[in-house]
Amino acid sequence: MADLLPILYQQMAEMTAPLCGSGSLECAQFCQKKYRCCEKQYCEATAKFAREKYGVELQPTGNPDLPFMGEHGCTVAPHLRPICTLHVCSISWAAKSSIENDEQKTKAYFDLRDRILAEARREGKMFE
Ligand code: SF4
Ligand code: SF4
Repeated sequence: MADLLPILYQQMAEMTAPLCGSGSLECAQFCQKKYRCCEKQYCEATAKFAREKYGVELQPTGNPDLPFMGEHGCTVAPHLRPICTLHVCSISWAAKSSIENDEQKTKAYFDLRDRILAEARREGKMFE
C-alpha cells in the first residue's frame, strides 16, 4: 500500500495553495516580504524533520534567504515540511479561522488536518 502521509500532505498542499498570495487580508499583511510568511527558521525545522523522520538530507537551493526556496517556490515535498504544509494564514491569523469564509471548505481543511495528525502519530512522524 502506498505511504498514506505523503498523499494526505499533497492533498493539503493543493487545498491551501489557492489561498497563498491570493490577496486575502491575512496573506496581504506579509506582502511586503519577498517570500511572504516563509522564514529561515522554518526551513531549518524542515531540514531537521526530514533528516530525523525520513533519513532525507535536503539539498539547499543556494537561495541566500531561504535554504529550500527555488525559482518557482519551495522545493521540498509537502510531507517533508509538515509545519509549512499545514499552515495557512486564514486559519492561523484570522480573527475567525476559515478557508475562504466557507463553512464546508473550512471543515474539509480541519478534517484533512485531523487525518494527517492521526496518521503522523500512528507512524511516529509527528513534528515539534
Ligand atoms: S501561508 Fe499565509 S502569508 Fe504565506 S503565502 Fe500563504 S496565505 Fe500568504
Ligand atoms: S515552505 Fe519551504 S521555503 Fe518556505 S519556510 Fe517552509 S521549507 Fe522553507
